[in-house]
Amino acid sequence: MERSDVFFASLRVAPDDSVPAKLARLVRAAGIERLGLDQKMTAIKTHFGEFGNVTHLKPAYARTLVAEVRALGGIPFVTDCNTLYPGMRWNAVSHLECAALNGFGQLSCGCPVIIADGLRGEDEVAVPTPPGAALGHALIGRTLMDADVIITLAHGKGCKASSFGGVLKNLAMGCASRAGKMVMHSSGRPAVKDHCVGCGVCLEGCGQGALEIREGKAHVNDRCVGCGHCVSYCPRAAIGGSGTAGADLQRKMAEYAATVVAAKPCLHVAAAIDITPGCDCFAGCDAPMVPNVGLFASADPVALDQAMADAICRQDALPGGPLDDLRAATPDADNLRAVSPDSDWALCLQHAEELGAGTRAYHLIEVR
Ligand code: SF4
Ligand code: SF4
Repeated sequence: MERSDVFFASLRVAPDDSVPAKLARLVRAAGIERLGLDQKMTAIKTHFGEFGNVTHLKPAYARTLVAEVRALGGIPFVTDCNTLYPGMRWNAVSHLECAALNGFGQLSCGCPVIIADGLRGEDEVAVPTPPGAALGHALIGRTLMDADVIITLAHGKGCKASSFGGVLKNLAMGCASRAGKMVMHSSGRPAVKDHCVGCGVCLEGCGQGALEIREGKAHVNDRCVGCGHCVSYCPRAAIGGSGTAGADLQRKMAEYAATVVAAKPCLHVAAAIDITPGCDCFAGCDAPMVPNVGLFASADPVALDQAMADAICRQDALPGGPLDDLRAATPDADNLRAVSPDSDWALCLQHAEELGAGTRAYHLIEVR
């Protein structure tokens, strides 16, 4: 099987070097100049972090990519789409306020910050999915589809809904409008497990009024849209997806991601640092599970995610971190599957490969 090149850089630097300088060398090695960026509107698709989250990627990573795009004559902007769940990022006004509070703005990024799916997350384009997809189209933020080129900047970490959040999730959930996110999330309602104690904490995480306490346990009612937000609120891991919903979510994410990469020239960049079990959509994403790994870049999002997931899964648990607790329930799961045993991250990569978004076979090339 033909392998894709994935470029990797550790975070180690000499005193006269820096991580941003290394990131610049990494994206050059990965072929950023082949995107032909001169006069091209270039979306740098990242995630600003929910308010209260402190483990999202710092603006310095986006700023480095912005400088590289400008050096090649491109017209960069940094962007993300609105969220489905309540919080600060569900509309463009408070989303930009949240981005500013987390350090993302014209000054820190070196370019405008734009919300890609409009004021209320409804400005979308229905983009046909590739052959082999079950979904007929993907609902993608219009600004991303108006861009000439997309450079994804993803944070490699766990995810309570999908077990792994990397490039494919940034392309899929991250590029989808609110309705698109609903399509991917609405495959199943969360299931309440026997050890629920009825504390009601999860009710605070539901913007739909879909959770109630009945007879001392949480109950999911018909208003549930399957967004999965409540899963991260439970301090006892007593609410989660079902296996079927997990597989459905993985396949839909693959179909959305494959749609975006088929529609636009792309380059993908990821940083596997602060590798928390929860994603950047939550303040309560917990402490890192494993040591920092480093930076990745590739033209192939599937190969990059496979390389990054493999590297995360090779790490030992950080002492006192959350992985020991997660492993207590699922001792045989890898570091990422332990986060959400009902939702297998590898299914997303497998289906993305089937749809032609890339290959899971990779050749890792270290950049110094
Ligand atoms: S699911 Fe978790 S947060 Fe919700 S009531 Fe049960 S124990 Fe409390
Ligand atoms: S109960 Fe349903 S709608 Fe409410 S947060 Fe959980 S998954 Fe989302």
